[in-house]
Amino acid sequence: MSGGGGSGARSGDGSGGGRRFGDGGPGGGSGARRGSGPGSGASDGGASDGGSDGASGARIHVVRFAPAKLNLTLAVTGKRDDGYHSLHSIMVPLSLGDALTVAATPAGATRDSLQVSGLVLPAKSDNLVLRAIIATRAAVAPAWPGAPAFPPALAARLAKRIPVAAGLGGGSSDAAAAIRAALAAWGAALDPEATAAVAASLGSDVPFFLAGTAALVTGRGESVEPLPEIGGEPPAVLLVTPQLPLSTAAVFKAYADGAREPEAGLARNTSERLAAEIRAGTTSAALLARAEELASANDLRQAAASLVPGLRTFVTALERLLDRPVCQSGSGPTMWSLYASLAEARKAVRFVRLAAVNGTLPLIGTGEPFVAATTIAGRPTSPLVQPADGSEGAIRPRSVHNWVEIDDQGPGGTSDGQMESKGDKSQ
Ligand code: ATP
Repeated sequence: MSGGGGSGARSGDGSGGGRRFGDGGPGGGSGARRGSGPGSGASDGGASDGGSDGASGARIHVVRFAPAKLNLTLAVTGKRDDGYHSLHSIMVPLSLGDALTVAATPAGATRDSLQVSGLVLPAKSDNLVLRAIIATRAAVAPAWPGAPAFPPALAARLAKRIPVAAGLGGGSSDAAAAIRAALAAWGAALDPEATAAVAASLGSDVPFFLAGTAALVTGRGESVEPLPEIGGEPPAVLLVTPQLPLSTAAVFKAYADGAREPEAGLARNTSERLAAEIRAGTTSAALLARAEELASANDLRQAAASLVPGLRTFVTALERLLDRPVCQSGSGPTMWSLYASLAEARKAVRFVRLAAVNGTLPLIGTGEPFVAATTIAGRPTSPLVQPADGSEGAIRPRSVHNWVEIDDQGPGGTSDGQMESKGDKSQ
């Protein structure tokens, strides 16, 4: 999957609010607008004033929450002329997520940098956070005062909590958060179309994360129709991710090579029906009642299983253990089940961890699976922007369960690495 033209993409205002800096007027044809906040003094493209809070002189740290996602449904509806598959997928953000902090670099710094903590992430300069900052800079540049100089370099810190290459969309979510954070740190703004174009250029799931709400996603992922919130207590979700990264491209290739669901059209029918129900206003209880249907509403299950020896056995054992249907998110290998309450989902976490240790649940990949309880998230709350005071910015989506539950030393270990992009030598 990779982003397309952005025809139906909507950039939601979910991460708007909070302290705002980007109030500049409309820019030229580029879709860029220039604010008068942090970074505005760096009109020569230098970083000396970038990110400085005028009143206190402290550097502004922009903090963004980057949620994981679930595909409640994922139907592959055809093959496009550009070689990509078209999809019909209902996607929801979760309360589990990464935290991204971005600040203008101290004077003299000429490169964007990224420091990662938490789960291990390949230390590559093509990390989506850096790519998103570079793409956003390019979009903002035409309206940047002092052009051809560019907006100043940024220092990013990513607390990685979402398992990588797991079907949970972590990289795409980080990219969407980085677009928002970079604009806030520069005091710049892009119109929705320009923002959507940047998002779509970074990956197929990025427009969804930019919208920030439950959505029906079609096309290659670029068409995002926000859906109403599910009523009642937010549905709780148990996530079980085998320690085994799975490439989305490889799963789609397996699908194209014939690893298909036995009943063609089943996922599509369920996806269309569920989309209609959510549009009309549905509840958590009604969603839970559909658990059996949702378990067979992912067209990539066979394709993922064809690439992961033991995945079918793992899912069967998990279903037996939980005594409820188990669904796959995206291209896998993350499996999930719905629960009526977070307390029940947490109980299931303990049960699954125990089963992984005592052998009731067969292990696949490199060790015990990542197991977590979370909820389907509601509309995002205000992001936080705060002066640096040496402490990590507080993260306050409606509820962030992984923040307290997941041990940094847990599955996946830890990584702390300094990465630099090479794409912004213009300072
Ligand atoms: P999707 O379901 O959106 O296709 P995924 O959830 O299966 O993706 P990601 O965790 O987004 O997978 O990672 C996909 C690839 O992107 C990985 O191979 C990883 O190395 C790369 N990547 C680049 N930047 C990031 C990032 N910030 N977080 C996670 N992965 C990243």
